[in-house]
Amino acid sequence: MIHNDHPRYESLKLREKIVDAYKKGILAESGMIAHGRGEAFDYLLGEKTTVNSEKAVRAAAAALILAKNPVISVNGNTVALVPNEIVILADDLDAKIEINLFHRTEKRVSIIEKVMNNAGAKNILGTDHEEKAKIKGLEGPRANSSREGVYIADVVLVPLEDGDRAEALLKLDKLLITIDLNPLSRTAKTATITIVDNIVRAIPNLIQAVHELSNVDDPTLHQIVNDFNNQENLDESLKKISDKHTGRVKP
Ligand code: ATP
Repeated sequence: MIHNDHPRYESLKLREKIVDAYKKGILAESGMIAHGRGEAFDYLLGEKTTVNSEKAVRAAAAALILAKNPVISVNGNTVALVPNEIVILADDLDAKIEINLFHRTEKRVSIIEKVMNNAGAKNILGTDHEEKAKIKGLEGPRANSSREGVYIADVVLVPLEDGDRAEALLKLDKLLITIDLNPLSRTAKTATITIVDNIVRAIPNLIQAVHELSNVDDPTLHQIVNDFNNQENLDESLKKISDKHTGRVKP
């Protein structure tokens, strides 16, 4: 039991959720290691949403609203931390949700499907009882995508993705949005829009931005997407980390 006056309360609560998800079979062991890497970057960034992240969230919301066929791809970590919020975002955008796991087993897919259904998801794709299409450039189960989902999507939100799959999806001409606390990861560098923030803050922020931009006209939304420069945004995140720890700027 972690007391809420503990200075690392929020971070420790997330750890607890991750361990619990592992015990329930939602997460593979490596999912806990991936969380640890994210946690380290969150620590360096001050465990708060930065201005850069807000900019990326706005661009991501605009791209998702403009999308003809948006898909949110979920893995174990995402489902462990924000299942309800993913369902809200998908409903608001009329987007599909697709399960994609690095360490895919039938059992884990079925557990995740149940968690998402309990969270209110209506039609989960990427399960084992549907036809799949291969993503060019990938091997093994990771190459599979739902014919109705990622395969035909124009905009894909893939939080906590690995670099290979991000690169393969981008080659298919999809607009790729990721959420990744590590501004140096291959995925962060590959995506069209990278939100450098913890997924537990990024998804609620995205839901809010989608609401705020929902009545904005298409040319303005296109302008917001086009004005966003991912590399510049990542550079600013890195600068924030170094400035913060050399005491040059306030957090
Ligand atoms: P890449 O192949 O893109 O270089 P990687 O091998 O470093 O990625 P993975 O293990 O494939 O990383 O994916 C985990 C990524 O997710 C890490 O970059 C980590 O920082 C990030 N991450 C983990 N937990 C969170 C979280 N709660 N919110 C946002 N990002 C997270």
